[in-house]
Amino acid sequence: MPEDHPNSWDARAKAASFFGFTDLPTIRERGTVVLRGGEGPYVIDTEGRRYLDANSGLWNMVAGFDHPGLVRAAQDAYARFPGYHAFFGRMADTTVELSEKLVALSPFEDGRVFYTNSGSEANDTMVKMLWFLHGSEGHPQRRAIVTRWNAYHGVTAVSASMTGKPYNAVFGLPLPGFHHLTCPHYWREGRAGESEAQFVARLAEELEQLIAREGPGSIAGFFAEPVQGAGGVIPPAAGYFDAILPILRRHGIPVIADEVITGFGRTGAAWGCESYGFTPDAIIASKAMTAGFFPMGAVILGPELADRLQHAVDRIEEFPHGFTASGHPAGCAIALKAAEVILEGADGAPPLIDNVRALTPRFEAGMARLAEHEHIGEWRGRGLMGALEAVRDRATGEPWPSDLSVSERIANACTDRGLICRPLGQAVVLCPPFILTEAQMDDMFARLGDALDAVFREIGG
Ligand SMILES: *Cc1c(COP(=O)(O)O)cnc(C)c1O
Repeated sequence: MPEDHPNSWDARAKAASFFGFTDLPTIRERGTVVLRGGEGPYVIDTEGRRYLDANSGLWNMVAGFDHPGLVRAAQDAYARFPGYHAFFGRMADTTVELSEKLVALSPFEDGRVFYTNSGSEANDTMVKMLWFLHGSEGHPQRRAIVTRWNAYHGVTAVSASMTGKPYNAVFGLPLPGFHHLTCPHYWREGRAGESEAQFVARLAEELEQLIAREGPGSIAGFFAEPVQGAGGVIPPAAGYFDAILPILRRHGIPVIADEVITGFGRTGAAWGCESYGFTPDAIIASKAMTAGFFPMGAVILGPELADRLQHAVDRIEEFPHGFTASGHPAGCAIALKAAEVILEGADGAPPLIDNVRALTPRFEAGMARLAEHEHIGEWRGRGLMGALEAVRDRATGEPWPSDLSVSERIANACTDRGLICRPLGQAVVLCPPFILTEAQMDDMFARLGDALDAVFREIGG
């Protein structure tokens, strides 16, 4: 129960701040959690309570909350050059270095980078790049953007239009010209008697039909998360990308991988597209790119789009786009260090991605064990990202009545047990920091299992 003191952190947080994406009944009944710091994979609140953060903050704090190498890199960077922009032909040296590093780490032979402050802005920037280059090439009608239902691409007007979630209707979004295909989630979207291969063939046919209906010359680009993240941790049905990519290629539609969650190791490969065996035309990065130590996003263009954009820019001698803090020198220094820590190994320590790979079998076994519960319909995931879907009836997949807020209850029961995990629809999401030990992972599953038992007992399991 929240305390009623007007000067409590809880009261002050509610009085002067708006919370985004927050279930109001939960904070009305339970109060807010105000945090004052962290230690490894744990965060600590103003009451001194410790929580194992099984969501890595918001997918991004993959190196934990006090990584000494990253803290030092940030301190050094601020002491040397605490801020600048990347306009008018000026750019910090660390920005130059980070672009070289990102291209080298990317699946592209060659490429070019543009910086933003967030994943939403990176998707927005990519859409503007596509509109600009198609227009410049004499195809100003190539403006439609294709994504999927349950996709999450961000919250700006354009990236929210790309996001395939019903909640954006309150904003009068999506904007015209944003199309959403069926979510490639076989368990939920497959029809009775339909095999996974038939499901994938149906989705490929749906894409063909959309292109035929809209006209191939009207589509600017296709965006996809390799694993849909905020839509519920949804790996694509088997063979999905193999089925749709040739169609997009045949119609000359650029393929953009939104790797804001999957980039930098989450799936066990540097990029999610590598886990699924394809090379996109561009990559959107953010979240783990700075291990959450700085707000930053990036568009990484592969060689073909980089060339085409350069031609468009050459024609008017300028790319009229950029954010004040694009390519921030301290942010870039932090991102350079994060790339080293996560993918290359730093200060004598092995790269954190090694631990992602080492922990994945234990993660999968833990999820599979919890999925034996009679009220879990499915577990799904890839690498160190997973979801457990709560169901009333395991045989039919029937969900719980929505007024029971089953996943909120589970998340709250976890919070009471010192574990932070996130409710999403009727699923609970786990995406722990890459620094987790085996013992911490076992502890995470023990607390979650205990919370599941308590909630299902309470709501009549
Ligand atoms: C979080 C996220 C975004 C948006 O990033 P912000 O930094 O919150 O704007 C975009 N795409 C994906 C896949 C994400 O998970």
